[in-house]
Amino acid sequence: MELIDRAAVYEDMMYAMCGTGFQANALSVINRQQEIEAIPVHYGQWVKQYRSGVSVASGVVSSCCDMWNERKTKYCPHCGATMNLEEKDNGT
Ligand SMILES: [Zn+2]
Repeated sequence: MELIDRAAVYEDMMYAMCGTGFQANALSVINRQQEIEAIPVHYGQWVKQYRSGVSVASGVVSSCCDMWNERKTKYCPHCGATMNLEEKDNGT
């Protein structure tokens, strides 16, 4: 399933159908589409310092909400952001 923005479709449809006389039909089609609640996905990454510039001696700080965590996790435990773990750190 893909999600689209009703307002965006509405606007585009109004533009595309301008002068054709089909706007009312198009509108009713748009308006009867089922609504689901979409939770926006947001991303962050684990960094070594707070936004204020203060470095942490241990653990990591999330770039999404500036909260400290003891280790890098896939999701931010504070705000639920998906954390980008692909940062290469060759700590072998
Ligand atoms: Zn967060």
